Amino acid sequence: MTENSTLGTDWALSWIRECARTVGENRSELVRLDREIGDGDHGENLDRGFTAVLQKLDASEPATPADVFKLVATTLISTVGGAAGPLFGTAFLKGSAAISGVDELDADALVAFLAAARDGVVARGKAEVGDKTMIDAWTPAVEAARSEQESGGDAHAVLSAAADAAEEGAASTEPLVARKGRASYLGERAVGHRDPGAQSSALLFRAAAETAGS
Ligand code: ADP
Ligand code: MG
Repeated sequence: MTENSTLGTDWALSWIRECARTVGENRSELVRLDREIGDGDHGENLDRGFTAVLQKLDASEPATPADVFKLVATTLISTVGGAAGPLFGTAFLKGSAAISGVDELDADALVAFLAAARDGVVARGKAEVGDKTMIDAWTPAVEAARSEQESGGDAHAVLSAAADAAEEGAASTEPLVARKGRASYLGERAVGHRDPGAQSSALLFRAAAETAGS
């Protein structure tokens, strides 16, 4: 379907608005997860950040997807405290740089965006898969996106594959001991709990797929 073969600024705006909606809807669940293995602020942090993002978007006219994501990045970095604000901010900043000046994102550009975003989180937080962090959602998502793109999937298929993998990745954090972030202070007590940042990352990936159409 040609209407889904590329995604432009309108999609970028819809995605970010859907991120704000789903983060708001899941705020107490994210707080609960972070209360179990952290300090309980993850849902509040992200909700505050995406609420600020909506206000900034309403007051600006971004021309390209990269402009949208850069505004998201700077707003998250300046309004979200804790570990997740700078990490998600870096993801959107590095992702934005990878698609600078591109008006319409095809499957290839989406993979470049996601991979650069993930690399930014790794460069900043130094987490690897298995450390029980958001990287356990991001890395499988990027790999699934790339493999879907290589087998000829369009933009929507790439984002759907990423969302499925991110959800599986978030679930995969449950049996793990954390090696990064606050949860790493808990040792074995973190086992049996899902990482909040991996869960919120999965929500953002699902929002991307859903707003990309069917
Ligand atoms: P804080 O831990 O400062 O309270 P949040 O609660 O907002 O911040 O975010 C916690 C989430 O941040 C964790 O669930 C984890 O996914 C992520 N995180 C923490 N440290 C790292 C890191 N070094 N690399 C990647 N993600 C991390
Ligand atoms: Mg926290």
